[in-house]
Amino acid sequence: MKVPFLDIAGAHAEIQDQLDEAVLRVARSGSYILGPEVEAFEADFARFTGAPHCLGTGNGLDALVLALKAMGIGPGDEVIVPANTYIATWLAVSFCGATIVPVEPLEATHNIDPEAAAAAITSRTKAIIPVHLYGQPADMDPLLQLSERHGLHLLEDAAQAHGARYKGQRIGSFGEAACWSFYPGKNLGALGDGGGFTTTSPELAARVSMLRNYGSAVKYEHELAGQNSRLDPMQAAALQVKLQVLDDWNARRQAIAARYLGALSASGLVLPAVPQWADPVWHLFVVRHPQRDGFRARLEEAGIGTVIHYPKPPHLQGAFASQGHARGAFPLAETLASEVISLPVGPAQTEAQTEYVIGQVLKLA
Ligand SMILES: *Cc1c(COP(=O)(O)O)cnc(C)c1O
Repeated sequence: MKVPFLDIAGAHAEIQDQLDEAVLRVARSGSYILGPEVEAFEADFARFTGAPHCLGTGNGLDALVLALKAMGIGPGDEVIVPANTYIATWLAVSFCGATIVPVEPLEATHNIDPEAAAAAITSRTKAIIPVHLYGQPADMDPLLQLSERHGLHLLEDAAQAHGARYKGQRIGSFGEAACWSFYPGKNLGALGDGGGFTTTSPELAARVSMLRNYGSAVKYEHELAGQNSRLDPMQAAALQVKLQVLDDWNARRQAIAARYLGALSASGLVLPAVPQWADPVWHLFVVRHPQRDGFRARLEEAGIGTVIHYPKPPHLQGAFASQGHARGAFPLAETLASEVISLPVGPAQTEAQTEYVIGQVLKLA
């Protein structure tokens, strides 16, 4: 048997007619920048997240950059980010000219440690960006308290967690704003690049709306030095179709994760810990193995696709060499990078495939 890490085309096959119709509709519309398709998706996605405003952007990284710029964050400001995240979270801060202040994760969930965040606050701190990593919500209550006590912006990086809930409430509506990626492999993925910004603040919404569109609210009037990063209408139309099945597809991921959690407890692997307040959407099912690379090769041999999220933390990347973080600066993030491996999980994965993965993992771990 073969089990791909994620079969996007296989999942799309279920909704192929609607996707084809959506793409063709835009191709034939004569309207190719922003417009009704983008507005319709923005309205539906805002409703989905529970935030009143949504703006579509070119991708998730740009959504983060635009959000920070809209908040007025720039040189001299410090932004607290997880040491253990995809590099986009860090790059967004550096693109704004602000200072990246990384903090270690909690070992149980790999998500940002609120106490470490509290300890990192200085008089220059302007924002905290928790990442709902792997589709698992970060612990928002202590972070909300910190942001209120210190007057900080709280920006959720929700790129991996469309639909996840914290204490029963969907993530993306806790801080004043959240950023989303619609990269094809994400839980809500487009047929190419796409991103989004949701917010409870009409002021931030108005600023991001301008910043994504050359700083302009009225054609050829440029009030801000904006950039060009707009959600493509063809992607918006495809996302509209996929938003209808998102809860169902997340439920399938949850069923696979529940099966893994039950059956793999005897495997010796460190399995994901799920706090009682969390309803994760399992963008990734990440386990730890002390000899991860050998384990991964044995799974590959058995026809099982896996991915490492992520093999090298941002502070050890060449892109951030100038920041001077030595190896050992964030030991937990570094240990996780050397031990994590993501097992297959996705909406097109069959029960037989899940059972096969379980059997092989129990044998090969
Ligand atoms: C995917 C991702 C992003 C960036 O999204 P793109 O659409 O690829 O630019 C940002 N943050 C996290 C945590 C991500 O996983």
